[in-house]
Amino acid sequence: SRQFTRPLNDLSNQFNTLLSAVAGAERVFEILDEEKEEKDEKQAIDLEKVAGNVDFEHVSFSYEKGANTIQNVSFHVSSGETVALIGPTGAGKTTIINLLSRFYNPDSGRILVDGHDIANVRRGSLRRHMGFVLQDSFLFVKSIRENIRYGRLGATDAEVEQAAKLANAYSFIMKLPEQFDTVLKQDGGGISQGQKQLLSIARTILADPTILILDEATSSIDTITEVKIQEALRRLMKGRTSFVIAHRLNTIQQANQIFVLEEGTILEKGSHESLLRDKGFYYGLYHSQLHDKGHLSG
Ligand code: ADP
Repeated sequence: SRQFTRPLNDLSNQFNTLLSAVAGAERVFEILDEEKEEKDEKQAIDLEKVAGNVDFEHVSFSYEKGANTIQNVSFHVSSGETVALIGPTGAGKTTIINLLSRFYNPDSGRILVDGHDIANVRRGSLRRHMGFVLQDSFLFVKSIRENIRYGRLGATDAEVEQAAKLANAYSFIMKLPEQFDTVLKQDGGGISQGQKQLLSIARTILADPTILILDEATSSIDTITEVKIQEALRRLMKGRTSFVIAHRLNTIQQANQIFVLEEGTILEKGSHESLLRDKGFYYGLYHSQLHDKGHLSG
């Protein structure tokens, strides 16, 4: 249980972070987390309401001295925008998310949410505004109802069911033997990978975060479920600032901004159209992979 506040070393394998970071899971967080990663500063403030504007100003960071994991990264994301983070494994996509969620502090530079330097914001308060939908959603050996309710512990049954409907999870849940009272097996056994994602989306809809972190699935999910997931994600992302670690052309194409990362720097940023016009790195990527296959490999 002392792993529950570890950062996102590997987004696809990190129930710990989902639990500690999922908006609204404060109580779970407190129960399971005897050992907070770092004490918040005495003068740290709480962020009450946020619109979801995010700025990185000359942010540099490394996990170990001399590594330059993130080098002088700057960007502005306006409230409600979608950003697709793309680039090879090890480029620094996850680290940017780790920094934005304050699992680490930058070595230099500043990260602002609605103009507030997050170095001065209590971690719990920051993460309450953030929701995570990751490749492997963490599910408890509890009923579907309770699993969704972890998004917001005070939610009524009607609110849980409404969230399930918006997440396109309702119909599969109603086909289960005990419907919303069906108890999940260890690691969500008994339901498919795609159905787990739908539950994770329902949970996040209930949490109603301003800033969303999505890790797009790379594993294959059947086409019908995939369509349901895409539609549910569109609903979830609407009006929220979203950072997507993206692999699919559709997602990348529809993002307001694409950040092309390599070795800890943003090589290029812009919309799909503007990056194609620039005929730079993204242009090459598009013509070598995205255009034909519709996704990024590796
Ligand atoms: P991406 O998400 O683009 O695959 P990451 O942000 O996970 O890239 O990794 C960026 C670099 O930081 C990689 O070289 C990776 O090995 C290194 N790294 C990631 N997490 C840690 C960690 N906890 N400690 C040390 N190095 C790390």
